[in-house]
Amino acid sequence: MSSQTISERVRPALAGFEPYDPAFSPCNINLSANENTHPLPATIATGIAQALVDTPLNRYPDPLANGLRDELAAWHGVARENIMVGNGGDEILFNLLFAFGGPGRALVVAPPCFEEYKNFAKMCETDVVEVWRNPADFSLNADALVEAAKNAAMVMVTSPNNPTGDLMDSSLVQRLLDNTDALVLLDEAYVEFAREGSSLIPLVANNPRLMVLRTFSKAFSMAGLRCGYLVANQEVIEVLAAIRQIYSEDVLAQAAATVAVKRRGEFAPVLASIVQEREYLCKGLAELPNVVQWPSQANFVLVRLPHAAEVRARLRDEYSILVRDFSYSKGLENCLRITVGTHEENERLLQAIGQLIKGD
Ligand code: PMP
Repeated sequence: MSSQTISERVRPALAGFEPYDPAFSPCNINLSANENTHPLPATIATGIAQALVDTPLNRYPDPLANGLRDELAAWHGVARENIMVGNGGDEILFNLLFAFGGPGRALVVAPPCFEEYKNFAKMCETDVVEVWRNPADFSLNADALVEAAKNAAMVMVTSPNNPTGDLMDSSLVQRLLDNTDALVLLDEAYVEFAREGSSLIPLVANNPRLMVLRTFSKAFSMAGLRCGYLVANQEVIEVLAAIRQIYSEDVLAQAAATVAVKRRGEFAPVLASIVQEREYLCKGLAELPNVVQWPSQANFVLVRLPHAAEVRARLRDEYSILVRDFSYSKGLENCLRITVGTHEENERLLQAIGQLIKGD
């Protein structure tokens, strides 16, 4: 009797996937994962602690997190029916492909961008069409994107984009909606760090195929919580509600995120500080020889410098500073992505990188 190995039994579309590797090593300063390096504001932390204590754990969560949906809806000026909450933005991205992708359908992406779009598409047996950005300045090839989207089920674009930091033009989003029949997912994971008025959530009301993704992982300092949400047309939300893991958003995450939304004004000083620190970091990087950087509206900066992989390893090993190495990724040769930290973290990063570059 012949017996298949375990790996032979894996669904063919899922063969060859590896566990996600965040490339983490313990370091004193972690600027590698685009997290908010500030802890929660103390007043919010206290409010959340109380909410968690008050949350019974013996009962199942509200599957759709309606209390949180109502707070988010009030904030964004939409209805509860326009919001879906998920276990991080990742879960929503996956569910969108699970629901609207599949064999014979295509997802269009514009790399370099968040790799998970492509991974989730492949898991859901969805074809991936890549419209590469201009290699020199990472600008989008707008005409090619619109052309590709004409034959696609969905487009995923990012504003600000990870890892390049640029905002997506609202006119290009509108062009995608007006000139194609694709669903358009606009990923705004980092939009709270961008200039006022950058979010395109207001366009959702008049564009039933536009879906905007947001997360508590970045501006809200809660990457460990696992909570994200989608703002979209009611019909999209109903589909997602029907196919999701029923209890993916646990009671503690719902309680904590609800406090954060109600008291979102208290995050303003941290956001202002990160934006100010981004300018400080960029100015410091600009003074270093042979370091190219791209303008960023996010909480990270992409840089290109000679021997990037070695610089990254020495930052980690000699200075205990962790940044993300993209030097082996297509289109990102010799590139590192640096998360904007606190003033002290940025100062130490600039000093260290300066010393390494000058060969001290
Ligand atoms: N979109 C982009 C562009 C991201 O960079 C990330 C996280 N790195 C996510 C979505 C998902 O974030 P989360 O699952 O933590 O909400």
